Parts: sequence; structure tokens; C-alpha cells
Amino acid sequence: MTPDNELIRRLGEIDAVRVDTETRLADLTTLRLGGRPAATVRCASPEAVCAAVGLLDAAGVGVLVVGGGSNLVVADGGLDLYVVVLECDEVSVDAASGLVRAQAGAVWDEVVATSVAAGLGGIECLSGIPGSAGATPVQNVGAYGAEVGDRLTRVRLWDRARRVDEWVPAASLELAYRWSNLKYSGRAVVLEIELQLACDGLSAPLRFGALARALGAEHADERFPAAQVREEVLKLRRGKGMVLDAADHDTWSAGSFFTNPVVDAETAGAVCDIVRATYGDAEADGMPRYAAPGGVKLSAAWLIERAGFPRGYPDAEAPVRVSTRHTLALTNRGGARTADLVGLAREIRDGVRDYFGVTLVPEPVWVGVELDG
Ligand SMILES: Cc1cc2nc3c(=O)[nH]c(=O)nc-3n(C[C@H](O)[C@H](O)[C@H](O)COP(=O)(O)OP(=O)(O)OC[C@H]3O[C@@H](n4cnc5c(N)ncnc54)[C@H](O)[C@@H]3O)c2cc1C
Repeated sequence: MTPDNELIRRLGEIDAVRVDTETRLADLTTLRLGGRPAATVRCASPEAVCAAVGLLDAAGVGVLVVGGGSNLVVADGGLDLYVVVLECDEVSVDAASGLVRAQAGAVWDEVVATSVAAGLGGIECLSGIPGSAGATPVQNVGAYGAEVGDRLTRVRLWDRARRVDEWVPAASLELAYRWSNLKYSGRAVVLEIELQLACDGLSAPLRFGALARALGAEHADERFPAAQVREEVLKLRRGKGMVLDAADHDTWSAGSFFTNPVVDAETAGAVCDIVRATYGDAEADGMPRYAAPGGVKLSAAWLIERAGFPRGYPDAEAPVRVSTRHTLALTNRGGARTADLVGLAREIRDGVRDYFGVTLVPEPVWVGVELDG
């Protein structure tokens, strides 16, 4: 796309805004994939975000808001859009009340670390999730039995249609499993988030079996010092390549590539029968399945592996592979293009559907490219 020089000049006049036309999405995403937008607009204050997005919207151009780029699959080549990077990153923690506020561009894991260090509990299970604070409500990030929605009280939004900067209650986002009404809609930009944490230094009740076992929990919903839970979560995540490390290609990913499918009881039974016929009783009886709103939640990673896509698939030479440590992460081994990633994602989605009759849905946000395109 040819940049609009007059628009770029006007963006550059906004306080706390820097604009360039060189940055590629590959420079901004954890998959290190994606082409060059018309321009990249870096905003160092919430007010700069409102002014820049307001100006871009008035000009009628495509806008992509980017935090840490850890949940994005972006097309190769020239991109017909302007990227707005959120760099406002102030964090305030009130240890007495447990109230935490973070501007959208703050690194999420630093928000968790600062809160835990201040003796606050409730988000320690979300340690090590890459990306920005502002993106956490977008897909209601979650891990190890917790979700940001458990603790989110309010968000400050720039409402793009109404051109209003306002605080709204978390309930208005309709947070659900890896979803909110902000995801895909682009209706608003999160400028700041507010969390209410517990002041007794203890974690949220532990709900995730492997984490509870690792900590030696003796009963359901046990609570441990938040700092201890954070360390254990980071250890578990590192073992799966789920903590960013530039030197480790298993972390050049968008995290879990597919959401865990929620199916009706009949479909869950049919999947179990297929596993029994192929892998035997022990595998079928151990199939992960959990009651969930709308049906039964299955494990996408478990299905992918049993449909014939093991860790490291397809081979050591491939530009994009299933992570060697976690079946649910698709990883760039260094020289990949988005087209390679889409090819592997399609092969896995189709393979699982052919084998089990369950269609996996990708978790990241796709820009300029589609799984079925
Ligand atoms: C190694 C790895 C592990 C991961 N583990 C987990 C996990 O355990 N649990 C989990 O839930 N996710 C996980 N993820 C996914 C990802 O980290 C989260 O979704 C994270 O919240 C994305 O934040 P981000 O700032 O990188 O968002 P980006 O990738 O920059 O953006 C994602 C989407 O949110 C939008 N967006 C970003 N910021 C804003 C904003 N301020 N206002 C409005 N829209 C915005 C973007 O436009 C885009 O549509 C993982 C990713 C990786 C790479």
C-alpha cells in the first residue's frame, strides 16, 4: 500500500506519537511473520492512542492495534493498513487496597510480577503469558485454571464509533473462554485496565490438577503463597516452551494455535470410541474431557497428537513445525513465511476433522489471511 504522506505528517504532529514506514509485522510479532503496513504509529500515552486512532478512522483507512504481537497471524507482503503500537506502560499497584491499574502497553508479565512482589494474589496463574496488559481482556487470557476476567473490574476504552474515552465495567465485555466482544470486532481500543486483587498474599484457589500436584496441594481449591505459585507456573510453562525466549525457536509461536473444542456429549462419545478402536481402552479411558458451558470441552493438543501430528511434525527441515515441546504451538524455525504457517495449520485442522469429526478453531487473530483462503 502506498503511504498517504499527508496523513503520516498529521500523525507525526500528535504529542507522544512516532511514525515510520519501515517496520514489518515480522518485527512486531512473536511468530516473526507478517509483511509491511503503510505505516507504523507508536503511541506513548493513552491520549496519543485516542488521537492517532481517531485520525486514522476519520481518514477511513484500515487500522491494526498491536501490543506484544503474541496472538497475531498476519499476511506476507504489503499490507493495506496502518499499525498502531501501544507503548504507554504506566503501572500503579496499591498494596493496601489490592487495586492495580496498568496502561495498555505495559508488559503483562511485569504487571503480574509487580503485583505478586507487592503481596497481592489472584493473577499469579497468568504468569509468563506474553504480550501487553491491554490485550488481556481482548481474549480474556487464561491459564492454569484462571482467567483475567476473574479479577478484572473495569477497562478504559477508546470507543471508535462514538469517539469517546471512557471507563466501562468488565461485565460489558461479555468475557468468555478466550473471547470478549472486543476480539475480532475492533470496536474499541483498550487504553488501561483495572484489577482487584487479594491482599493476603495468597493465590487464587488452585483449580488446575498438574499445578496443584506440583505444589503438593492436599485438597481442592487450596491456596498457596502467590509468589510460590508464580514460580511453579513459570517452571511449568518453560518446560512447554510457553515463555518467550528469543534463542528458543519453540517459543517463536502465537501460543496455543487452536482453542480447546467444546462439543456435545454425543460427539465426545464418538471421539472416545474412535480412540478406543485405534489406541485401546487405556487411552480412551484417559481421554481429557471436562464439563463446560455448552457441552464437553476436549483437549485440542491431545486430539492433534492422536490424529497423527506429534511434537516436531513434520520434520527438522521444515520452516514451520509443531513445537518440539507442546503439540498445540506452531512455530517458526527461522526462515518461514506466513504461507508456510497457514499450510501447516490447514493440514492439522483438516487431519483432526477427518480423523475425529471435530473442527478445530484457531485462537490467534488473523489479519489479511485466512485459514480457508
Ligand atoms: C509463547 C506464548 C504463550 C502464550 N500463552 C498464552 C496463555 O497461556 N493463555 C492465553 O490466553 N494466551 C496465551 N498466548 C497468547 C497471547 O500471549 C495473549 O493472547 C496475549 O494477551 C496477546 O497480547 P498481545 O499484546 O501480544 O496482543 P497482540 O498479539 O498484539 O494482539 C492480539 C489482538 O488483540 C488486539 N489488541 C491488542 N492490544 C489491544 C488493545 N489495547 N485494545 C484493543 N485491542 C487490542 C489486536 O488488535 C489483535 O487483534 C500465548 C502466546 C505465546 C506466543
